[in-house]
Amino acid sequence: TRRTALSFAKGPGRTADGQRMLLLANVGSPADLEAAVAAEAEGVGLYRTEFLYLDRTAPPSQEEQRRAYRQALRAFPGGRVVVRTLDGGADKPLAFLPAPAEPNPALGLRGLRLYRAHPEVMAAQLDALAAVAEDGLQVLAPMVTTAQDAAWFVRACRERGLRSAGVMIEVPAAALRARDLLAQADFASIGTNDMSQYAFAADRQLGVMSPLHDPWQPALLDLVAMTAEAGVRSGKPIGVCGEAAADPALACVLTGLGLCSLSMAPAALPAVRAGLAAHTVEQCRTAAEAARAQPTAADARAAARAHLPGLA
Ligand code: PEP
Ligand code: MG
Repeated sequence: TRRTALSFAKGPGRTADGQRMLLLANVGSPADLEAAVAAEAEGVGLYRTEFLYLDRTAPPSQEEQRRAYRQALRAFPGGRVVVRTLDGGADKPLAFLPAPAEPNPALGLRGLRLYRAHPEVMAAQLDALAAVAEDGLQVLAPMVTTAQDAAWFVRACRERGLRSAGVMIEVPAAALRARDLLAQADFASIGTNDMSQYAFAADRQLGVMSPLHDPWQPALLDLVAMTAEAGVRSGKPIGVCGEAAADPALACVLTGLGLCSLSMAPAALPAVRAGLAAHTVEQCRTAAEAARAQPTAADARAAARAHLPGLA
């Protein structure tokens, strides 16, 4: 019997011809975990841990951290939970780490770069994660720029017995050399929000820049495609956890590009799940090719949608 798109509104992500796509949730607080479970996410693809560190003058204790990580793992027994280590600085300022006076904080000490100046912060977080580690736990570093960054972070994870250590690819240099980063890490996750910011030299916090942050921008699609290809070649899984994954047509395009998982706000999951279920992998591939052949974001969106009739 023919399954309708509606019958796929729940359950694991699949294309119409049955290719799996892990559909995961972006979570920014313990409260979001509930929404993720309710939306039948297959796990957490991006646990933003900044909430543990914001608005306070001292870092969270080991116990407080362990409690938060355990809670996430318990929400998805048998599923995966990708915990991103602290992404402080720039658009996520921290009271307890005095920010250096930089003219361009987005280009300065943020994410993993902050750990170089404060290695004890990374060490404490990885210790707490190692204390609660179980099979589904994967640890992800933000703002990884070079293979050297990746190697440094992965080594710190391995020293603590953490089995799965990944890197965010959200800087164009990292996308260009994704192969080298993947040689160090177990997996990667593309952050399209920062990737746009850095590829288009456009502050993500400035509304006036929003046309450049259109996730259909062909240059962004190229960077994502290049990274996905490195993943396919290396045999290591790559997902997308930036806002781009929440657009059902773009989710099909990302599937066509060979990505393995999509992580998004829980509210976006049902439409993405249904959109995928209404198209074959071949349609997704054709849509991706058609989008990348266009010169503008609007053209790319229109060209992809022309190949994705189930989204009409
Ligand atoms: C991104 O940059 O796309 C991302 C997922 O991380 P954040 O939005 O938290 O910087
Ligand atoms: Mg980011």
